[in-house]
Amino acid sequence: MDKKTLSILKKVYANENGSYNPTLNRHEHKIPATVTQADLEILSSKGLQPNNFETFDHDNALERLLKIKEDKKLTSGFATSMFLKGLTGEMPRARQTLMSYLYLRHLYKHDFAGKDTCEICGLPKVETEDKTHQLYTYYLGHSWNELPLHYLIELEEALTFDKPEITQADRNKLTELLDFIAQADKKETPGKLEQRIASHKILDQTDKYKRYGILQTLAECGILPNPFIKPRYEAFIAQKDLWEASKKLTTSFRSDIILPLGGWKGENGVDKERCKEIFDAVQN
Ligand SMILES: [Zn+2]
Repeated sequence: MDKKTLSILKKVYANENGSYNPTLNRHEHKIPATVTQADLEILSSKGLQPNNFETFDHDNALERLLKIKEDKKLTSGFATSMFLKGLTGEMPRARQTLMSYLYLRHLYKHDFAGKDTCEICGLPKVETEDKTHQLYTYYLGHSWNELPLHYLIELEEALTFDKPEITQADRNKLTELLDFIAQADKKETPGKLEQRIASHKILDQTDKYKRYGILQTLAECGILPNPFIKPRYEAFIAQKDLWEASKKLTTSFRSDIILPLGGWKGENGVDKERCKEIFDAVQN
């Protein structure tokens, strides 16, 4: 994204100016005086108009996700290329796509179960989101593995992008990171790992939470293994099972980082075979 667009988004979203909209049950951001009509037109031309609220319900969101799953553009090559460009810091926005793709891998059609959040897939029964606000967090370079509704918002935009061309230097960055992680002592926690990466300046264009996002993606791939729950790369993880496993993590591990990364320790190491399987796969 060009700097101008991101700077306009920052003016709107970097603070919580605005007010609660009771109809939407959402915070509505106030457009500051420093944002001009021309600025708003730039955002609109990119589909990033502020306060772009949409109300989603479970069945509709699930149907759209399953449709995206069948989209021929969304290959593992597309998702991994995006991640590598995010990892190097060249395209921070691209970091989220692999995480979203992993969620889709084993998703299947089902009826809503539970109260407010589906116990099967984690989608809300009904919820309103400011899509631009969510995309803004990705443009900043964040990636998250919570709230599956956000994968839909992310992928609908990501699929409008061209698949990035990956260079050897991009691949080397991943190798460098994994070699660095593999040096962890047995008791190293994900929190300590993040600090080690920060002090050695391994990841450009990141802060603490952006580094967690990158590591969390590697954990969802199973490249950073954990004994509590299967990574999404391997299996569909029901929301109910994730809640149960998270309870065990909280009592035995006292980690404030969620699963699957929260369950990793230095002794679990780095699964380089898994990395090969995912990142050296046919690039189509
Ligand atoms: Zn569901």
